[in-house]
Amino acid sequence: MSVFCGYDGEKPPDLNLYLEPFLMELKPLEENGIDIDGKHLMIKSIASICDAPARSFVKQIVGHCGKHACERCTVVGETISNRTVYKSMNVRLRTDESFRVRRDRLHHNNVPTPLLRLGINIVKCFPLDYMHLICLGTFKRFLRIILNGNVAEEDRIHKLSPDMIKRFDDLIELLGEYLSSEFNRKGKSSKKLNRWKATEFRTFFLYTGLIILKEVLSEDEYNNFLYFFVSMRLLLSPSPTKRQIKFANLCLRKYVYEFSILYGDHHLVYNFHNLIHLTDDCDFYEASLNDISAFPFESYIGEMKRDIKGTIKPLAQYYRRYSERLHIEKSHPYQPTETRIVDSLRENSKADSFIMLPNDSIFKIFAMKTGSEVIVVQKLNITYDDDGSRKEFFLRPMPATDLNIFVCDGLCNSRTFLPTSVLLTAKKCIAFPFENSENEDSKWLVIPLLHTM
Ligand SMILES: [Zn+2]
Repeated sequence: MSVFCGYDGEKPPDLNLYLEPFLMELKPLEENGIDIDGKHLMIKSIASICDAPARSFVKQIVGHCGKHACERCTVVGETISNRTVYKSMNVRLRTDESFRVRRDRLHHNNVPTPLLRLGINIVKCFPLDYMHLICLGTFKRFLRIILNGNVAEEDRIHKLSPDMIKRFDDLIELLGEYLSSEFNRKGKSSKKLNRWKATEFRTFFLYTGLIILKEVLSEDEYNNFLYFFVSMRLLLSPSPTKRQIKFANLCLRKYVYEFSILYGDHHLVYNFHNLIHLTDDCDFYEASLNDISAFPFESYIGEMKRDIKGTIKPLAQYYRRYSERLHIEKSHPYQPTETRIVDSLRENSKADSFIMLPNDSIFKIFAMKTGSEVIVVQKLNITYDDDGSRKEFFLRPMPATDLNIFVCDGLCNSRTFLPTSVLLTAKKCIAFPFENSENEDSKWLVIPLLHTM
C-alpha cells in the first residue's frame, strides 16, 4: 500500500516519479510470479480502480471532455450545448496494441505513460468503476434532471411537478423504514440530492427506485429506467454468467439510445457513452461489477481520513496510527469480514426478517432462538394472475420473477416451522409495501439483497 501526500489537491508533478515505486514492485512480480501458501502464482492482469480524471492522468491520455477521450473505442465526440457528446455506439474498439503504437494520436498526451513498461493489457486493466461512472455520474445526472431542474434550459421540461416531488420524498422516507440493517443510509430527500452519497444512489436504483419511479415517471420513462435496472441487477449479482453479461450489454445500449431520445442527445457525454462498454469489464475479469469498483477503497479512505487530525505532517500522523493498529490487531486492519445471513436477521422485524429459499418460497421469521433447531415463520403468498402464472412487476426487458423479484399478497395467517439449516442457503430479502404503501394490507414487492451494502 502507498499513500501520496500532495499539495492543495494538485496532482503529483511527475508521473514517472509517482509510479516508480509501484512499477519497481510490480515488474518483478509480473516477470517471476509470487509464492503464496505453497503455490506459485503468475500475475496476468491487474485492475487499476480510478475515476476518469485519474485514469487519464496515469494513462497519459486526453481528459474526459476531449473528443478522443473514450478509452474503449475510437468514437469522435462532437460539441452539443457546450459539452462533448459521443453519439456513435458501434465504432472500432481500442486494443492493447493500438494503444501502445498510439494509432489514434489524438487520444494520447505527448509523453507516454510509464505503465507501458508492464505487460498488462493497458486498455482492459482500467475498469470503468461504476461508483463514479453511474452512482455519481449518469444516475445522479438523471435524478437532477427530474428533481431539481438545476440543469440546462432544455432539460427543465422533464422536472417533476411539485406534487410528484412530494410523493418522491414521502416514498423515500416510507420505504427507508423497510431497508435492512445492511443499508447504513436509508435515503435523503430530493432537496438534499447534491449531498446524496454513492451508496444512496445505488440503494435507489437497485431497490427503492423500482417502486418510487413507477409512481412519478411517465410509462415511457419508467420503461427506459427498467432497462438500466435489469442490467444493474445482473451485473451486480455475485457472479454474472456470460449470457447475463451479453444481455445486460443489449439492455444498456437500448437504455442509452432511448435515453437520448427521451431526454435529448446532449446527455450522451463521456459517462453515458461508457455505459455501452461497462459489460466488457465483467467479461474480462469474469466478475461482478461490485468486485471491480471503488466502493471498498472509498470506505477505506474514510477510515484513513479519520486518522489524520490536522494539516501538520499528515503522512507521519497516518503512519503512526496505522502502525498502532497493526501492533494491536496483529493483522492487517483491512481484512474483509465474512458476514453470514443469520447474523443480521431479526425476529418479526419489518426490515430484517424476510428470507427466500432456493425454491423461491418467501418467509418472514417470526421467532428464532439461538441454538434451536427450528425457526418459526410465516409464509408470504406470491400473487398469481388469473391464468395461473406468477404476477410480474414488470415484463420487459425480462420478467421480474426471472430476477427473483416477486409480487406478494400478504402473510399467511398460520405460522409454521422450518429447520434452522435453511438459513445456510436462504437469501435475505427486502419486502416493500406498494399500491397503498401506507397501508399494511397493501401488496408487497420482495427483492433479494444483492450483497452486503
Ligand atoms: Zn466508446
